[in-house]
Amino acid sequence: MGEASVDSTHAGAANRHAGAGNRHDLRERVAAAARRLAADRLVIGTAGNVSARERDVVAITPTGAALEQLEPEQVAIVNLEGEQTGGELEPSSELALHLGVYRRYHAGGVVHTHAPMATALSCAIDELPVVHYQMLMLGGPIRVAPYATFGTPELAEVTVEALRDRTAALMANHGAITYGHDLDAAVDSALLLEWACGVYWHAKAIGGPREMDAAQCQAVIDAAISRGYGSTRERSE
Ligand SMILES: [Zn+2]
Repeated sequence: MGEASVDSTHAGAANRHAGAGNRHDLRERVAAAARRLAADRLVIGTAGNVSARERDVVAITPTGAALEQLEPEQVAIVNLEGEQTGGELEPSSELALHLGVYRRYHAGGVVHTHAPMATALSCAIDELPVVHYQMLMLGGPIRVAPYATFGTPELAEVTVEALRDRTAALMANHGAITYGHDLDAAVDSALLLEWACGVYWHAKAIGGPREMDAAQCQAVIDAAISRGYGSTRERSE
């Protein structure tokens, strides 16, 4: 009896420790992603927000913090209902947007930026067409969600809808959003989207772009599936 209760106490302590460790790991990943996006100039100053989810725990950048020097301790912890369960600082004003993406698409990470190229295009176009085959990694032509005031349920609703069958969307006169199965994938998509916006911008400036048609897109998808695009392969002997 005595031994059994000692064992269960140890197990309980181990479980509590693992929970705290996971939360710290989530916060570190969010802080590292925010610093990386700032270093790549996708987020500037306090504009933009990043989150990561594990089960019903979401770690999200705090409102008003300088993202280029974000520390894990500054990252807020909330549940999927938006109730804050950790951290001293208030979560991002776009919390409802992040939670909307987690609830609808079961994502593991979400990135929202005011990246220069994506934001410029969000002020000018209604859809970003597929002009390069790498854009198919984002799911196809990128929708531009209708404009709504930042931080509102309306903005969350129209933006989550614009992500249907895509991992990226532009937000009219505002910026960009991406998500992934984890935060690294969401960051990679944010970088890819910003690059694609730059390609479109430059092609537009010299009289283009020439859009890819449906047959060309399907051939890329078929080739990617048969060749395992994006992963390394051992050379054949
Ligand atoms: Zn924003």
